[in-house]
Amino acid sequence: MSALRIVNGRVYDPINDVDGEIREICVADGKIVAEAPPEAKRIDAQGMVVMPGGVDIHCHIAGPKVNLARKVQPEDHRHDVHPRTAFTRSGTGGTVPSTFATGYRYATLGYTTAMEAAVPPIGARHTLEELNDTPVIDKGFYILMGNNVLLMQFLKEGRLEDFRNAAAWWLNATKSYTLKLVNPGADGAWKGRRNANITRMDEKVPEFEVTPRQIVKALVDVAHDLGLPHPAHIHCNNLGHSGNFETTLETMRAAEGRRAHITHVQFHSYGGEPGRLPTSKAAEIAEFVDAHPNISCDVGQVMFGKSTIMTADAPLAYLLRDYTSDRRWVNADTEHESGCGIIPFDYQEKVYTHALQWAIGLELFLLSKDPWRMVLSTDHPNGGSFMSYPKLIRLLMDSEFRKRELGRVNRKAVRNSVLMDGLDREYSLQEIAIITRAGPARILGLANKGHLGAGADADITIYEENPDKELMFSAPRYVIKDGRLIIEDHEFRCDHQGRILHVAPAYDSAVEDVIRPFFEDYYSIQFDNYAVDAHYIPRNEVIPTGDDG
Ligand SMILES: [Zn+2]
Repeated sequence: MSALRIVNGRVYDPINDVDGEIREICVADGKIVAEAPPEAKRIDAQGMVVMPGGVDIHCHIAGPKVNLARKVQPEDHRHDVHPRTAFTRSGTGGTVPSTFATGYRYATLGYTTAMEAAVPPIGARHTLEELNDTPVIDKGFYILMGNNVLLMQFLKEGRLEDFRNAAAWWLNATKSYTLKLVNPGADGAWKGRRNANITRMDEKVPEFEVTPRQIVKALVDVAHDLGLPHPAHIHCNNLGHSGNFETTLETMRAAEGRRAHITHVQFHSYGGEPGRLPTSKAAEIAEFVDAHPNISCDVGQVMFGKSTIMTADAPLAYLLRDYTSDRRWVNADTEHESGCGIIPFDYQEKVYTHALQWAIGLELFLLSKDPWRMVLSTDHPNGGSFMSYPKLIRLLMDSEFRKRELGRVNRKAVRNSVLMDGLDREYSLQEIAIITRAGPARILGLANKGHLGAGADADITIYEENPDKELMFSAPRYVIKDGRLIIEDHEFRCDHQGRILHVAPAYDSAVEDVIRPFFEDYYSIQFDNYAVDAHYIPRNEVIPTGDDG
């Protein structure tokens, strides 16, 4: 395999405490090494910034709901054609790009790893098929477990051993990465009683006879007990509702000091009375997270323009369908596992709520003291496309630019935020490296990613320094994946297939005899046909769990 020697570049590698020093980075056999062989290809990175490849901890890029979102927006395919090149395949873009375009577009931003954040386990095959067709990047996915009917039965009956073994069986059967909760407990109410939702952490879900707090605690504990590299990944109850910050604080408390990841926390940081206009509670959330090192978050920044709401939170999709002029809307149930909703959406500067959501995301970034635990996401494509990351980076790095943008948005929303109250913090390049690669890699427990120390995967991005940070982060000069020079002088030089990252925690296989009858009675698929086999992961990497790590 090829070897590389990158010289004269300014290196940002926060995990190894390298902050903008001129360092040599050597690559051989797909890994970072201390010294490259003499025949190594030399890259002169004079005037450039060298960082590990970007890591997206939360996005929606593959599986049944993503495909539904593509189908429902055919105009995006016509308006944004992604042409083939000598090395790469064609695709379509828009807010929900096709598989090939997704991989290539992440690569053109210098991202080399991305995690699909919400898959009903029964959709694992479809998801893996699409992820295998998503080039360049490494990827994994989280399975939806917070409304799983069988798990809820175990919880109700206090069968915690069965609960833990079943969760571990599901992770193995789907080749997934961690346990995801969306609006825990509320799908049962939604499916069972027309338009019903569960809004309080200690409200018993009649269908399951357990509370959201019990569900959160149980899945946080299971992720801990199984030694998963990434903890339970939680979309709290009451997403988008005024006053929901109390629920968010309660959810974080429900973890009782154990690791938990609260996703797209911007959508969960609202004050105000339910049913009325929201206010910002970003300061309260940021303060709580700073004081609780067991909690990590990604922001879920809203960016103005087209987005696609894509969520397992079916009651939310039902509610939001009245807030768009588009009139397109999909809601679906997924057997005993999850719900789903899709809505094409448009975030507008002049709309109070949209502008406030945008401002709250920025407040969370700017008020948080620990960038390692408040990392970058737009909940692609919910808050906006991942293609808007360079603009978001500029908003964080350039306070003059931010002020100009603030002048364009709804006045009342700006007044209701603290962004104009002397909050002129500017992120440094080192902090950007933390929130876009080192932090997400650490939260995910990916020891070989997010840094440039010897032994790390040789996933490297080299940007030309530019005072306009949006331009700088839009088009890296070089992107290296697994030691291969994928992009050189801004052009693709070859195609590449990344790996599926998944876990394989140990469990007592006797639980299969407990799960099997449930499948026979209630599932549309036979138990023996449900688990995904090795054909679906031709290129994979098992990330160690606590016992074997
Ligand atoms: Zn999401």
